[in-house]
Amino acid sequence: MQEIGHWVNGKMVAGTSGRFADVFNPHTGEVQAKVALATQAELDQAVADAAKAQVAWGATNPQKRGRVMMALVGLINRDMEKLAEVLSREHGKTIPDAKGDIQRGLEVIEFCIGAPQLLKGEFTDSAGPGIDMYSMRQPLGVVAGITPFNFPAMIPLWKMGPALACGNAMILKPSERAPSVPLMLAALCKEAGLPDGVLQVINGDKESVDAILDNETIQAVGFVGSTPIAHYIYSRGTAAGKRVQCFGGAKNHMIIMPDADLDQAADALVGAGYGAAGERCMAISVAVPVGEETANKLIEKLVPRIEKLKVGPYTGGADIDYGPVVTAAAKENILRLVETGVEQGATLVVDGRDFTLQGYENGFYVGPHLFDHVTPDMDIYKKEIFGPVLSTVRAQSYEEALKLAMDHEYGNGTAIFTRDGDTARDFAARVNVGMIGINVPIPVPLAYHTFGGWKKSAFGDLNQHGPDAFRFYTRTKTITSRWPSGIKEGASLNFKMMD
Ligand code: NAD
Repeated sequence: MQEIGHWVNGKMVAGTSGRFADVFNPHTGEVQAKVALATQAELDQAVADAAKAQVAWGATNPQKRGRVMMALVGLINRDMEKLAEVLSREHGKTIPDAKGDIQRGLEVIEFCIGAPQLLKGEFTDSAGPGIDMYSMRQPLGVVAGITPFNFPAMIPLWKMGPALACGNAMILKPSERAPSVPLMLAALCKEAGLPDGVLQVINGDKESVDAILDNETIQAVGFVGSTPIAHYIYSRGTAAGKRVQCFGGAKNHMIIMPDADLDQAADALVGAGYGAAGERCMAISVAVPVGEETANKLIEKLVPRIEKLKVGPYTGGADIDYGPVVTAAAKENILRLVETGVEQGATLVVDGRDFTLQGYENGFYVGPHLFDHVTPDMDIYKKEIFGPVLSTVRAQSYEEALKLAMDHEYGNGTAIFTRDGDTARDFAARVNVGMIGINVPIPVPLAYHTFGGWKKSAFGDLNQHGPDAFRFYTRTKTITSRWPSGIKEGASLNFKMMD
């Protein structure tokens, strides 16, 4: 059995804890590897080494750091096929979807090539007599990234790119359910010219996360994962005086107005609801048609599209729409929630409960489900299911639909499908959600904008990637300088204005 260790000081090292987690092949249900779970001592040593390496890296000029990012882009593109294959085999998503996962991470690395521009700082000439004032952005030192299973390439790249481009060293703690791609990315960073020790990938579970939170050298923590863990890490990390941003779960609503193009809306819902087996934080999991007629027509259009979906392994060819979910536990959780939906009175219009795939009976496949007549008090509405399950909540008016999205505890993304500009504009202005799509079902902002939810979908002030990432991973220092060859003011005990 393959044992996956850690990436420390520029090479793979075996774990010493004697503790391991199973890494599954979700397509077959087999354990394909064991990943080492780090101890506090292993984590602390990796941090100490990272702190030493960071000194020279932080002093490296930003254009040289940008060049490492540029080389990394080329190397990831070179290894795209290999990375996608490993990603699909551990995660379960299809190869085209795995390439999308890598691509959206790569775009953030492309953005980070612009580190010199993004780190330029500010300057005021002659802020007072003979006085200049300037601000610079300096790296924090050693920072940590803790990432989820569902984007094993994209989210580690979102963390490491900006952190490293800003001159920090990073401890990356990827999901123990999909650890291989982050390790491959670390090896590519070395090949791209990143000095040893500047990026350490430490595999682990709660023990290593707690070790990160307790380590006094680590200045900042960027987390992505489920809301309860996000809240835990935010509370404990900030109490320890760290800078922390935590992105959590989601329940993304898509509102379908009576004037919407219903074919377009149905296609969008199928892609956004069932792509990656629903294991996306930006998946649409709630459809809100406005008016009974819209709802009836929408369901009529959705059912044949959903019944046509092809579920299968990533090796099954280009017509596979989505693969298995990540673990048997994830599958059980999804099916349990589907049962509660039925028990609590929702109408199960497409029932995927008996789905099995011939030849892959032990794989973690879940058939597609569509619920109608879901109400806000039901568990399937309140909880994040993170599976191929779309719930339809019928609203009688735009205001009622808007209120649903606003009252939900999550606020990651939301979409509206309409041809009416006034309604779309009103929705974008009023809804209390971080990322909005107008006739776009998965409004994931591009690398040069920022990504982040509201309400219980995110804790902390700044978003991921884009300019916010460069703010998160740097500290501002402001310098006031005077070279007064001819100015003699004498001593003053007053708190003076510069005029
Ligand atoms: P998760 O919360 O189970 O795990 C995330 C990370 O936290 C992993 O590295 C894991 O090892 C660690 N962890 C797990 N349990 C822990 C504990 N008790 N104490 C400390 N650390 C712990 O999340 P997941 O299942 O890997 O990912 C899916 C979740 O992530 C979904 O809720 C999804 O919506 C969310 N997500 C959010 C975004 C976003 O940007 N908002 C993006 C992707 C995924």
